[in-house]
Amino acid sequence: MNPASFSSALLKWHDKHGRHDLPWQQNKTAYRIWISEIMLQQTQVATVISYYNNFMARFPDLTALANAKLDEVLHLWTGLGYYARARNLHRTAQIIVNDFNGHFPDKLEAVIALPGIGRSTAAAILALSDNQHHAILDGNVKRVLTRFYAIEGWPGKKQVEQLLWQHAERLTPKKKTAQYTQAIMDLGATICKRSKPECTTCPLHVHCLAHKTDTVSHYPFAKPKKNIPVRSTIMLLLRDSDNKVFLQQRPPAGIWGGLWSLPEADCKPVSRSVSQWSQQQLSLQIDNIVFEKSLRHTFSHFHLDITPVYASVIANTSSVMEQTESVWYNTCEPDARGFAAPVKKLLDTHNEVIAGAII
Ligand code: SF4
Repeated sequence: MNPASFSSALLKWHDKHGRHDLPWQQNKTAYRIWISEIMLQQTQVATVISYYNNFMARFPDLTALANAKLDEVLHLWTGLGYYARARNLHRTAQIIVNDFNGHFPDKLEAVIALPGIGRSTAAAILALSDNQHHAILDGNVKRVLTRFYAIEGWPGKKQVEQLLWQHAERLTPKKKTAQYTQAIMDLGATICKRSKPECTTCPLHVHCLAHKTDTVSHYPFAKPKKNIPVRSTIMLLLRDSDNKVFLQQRPPAGIWGGLWSLPEADCKPVSRSVSQWSQQQLSLQIDNIVFEKSLRHTFSHFHLDITPVYASVIANTSSVMEQTESVWYNTCEPDARGFAAPVKKLLDTHNEVIAGAII
């Protein structure tokens, strides 16, 4: 199948069966496409839609995002995970306002140089918003091409990725690049799916090598498995007499950077140690210490086993209220703060317990 037939088959299919009503497909500015591409990097379309609409309602343009507080951006990102994406969006918006007069750059190299935007994302932004001729190679495209050409090896491996880029560039048409880009993304998302691809309705099936050889399930090759380590921590849910919970803001860089979190006790998981740690590190005297069943949160490179510990604060000899990075938080009256998913879950549970006690 030559490139012209490949793209023509895809474009015809997309006219009839592609997705045309997603929120970021309306009013296709570089800003709107950029936000959608970043949100979609690790998250399914169905989940992204409500986050995207909320984000756009609050930050309708680059200037609004650049002028916002990072806390508010992280708040709107709470639950989406991979928070570096939100921090990079905020930083990038500020860079564009300062260095590009608030206009999204229109050269591929300039877009790639922005924080958090790789080659494929930059190409997608310019192709979809401005019909520029650039090939993309996101997860969906990788899956379609590895199957279509029956390419062996994990697509994250350098040689495999280079080969995929060559195919992607050769196949991307000079005309109708925007439609083609959307078409191949849609094909990967709705037909050539990770599991149970619908080959019989696929416009490429006659020439697809994996389909012809009945080996579709072999592709793409899985990432070689590594045993990821398990770390553990104790998270303290310390409540004062008003049932407010003590929170600390994490440093701007690193895991959960800039998000609000519970204090993590660096001690043995026994009451006496936790009590001493709280006294020494936070100047908070605690009582009624209860250890709960641990929960696991998995990052890309390690598992984190979190043991939640609930306790009442009976004396506060610290000046923590004066520190900007700490706060006594009223879970019944949540405000605009970003939380990591497990912290949000623990705070929600705490809130339910209080509500139950009030009823
Ligand atoms: S025929 Fe099947 S495996 Fe091949 S591209 Fe189409 S959906 Fe994917």
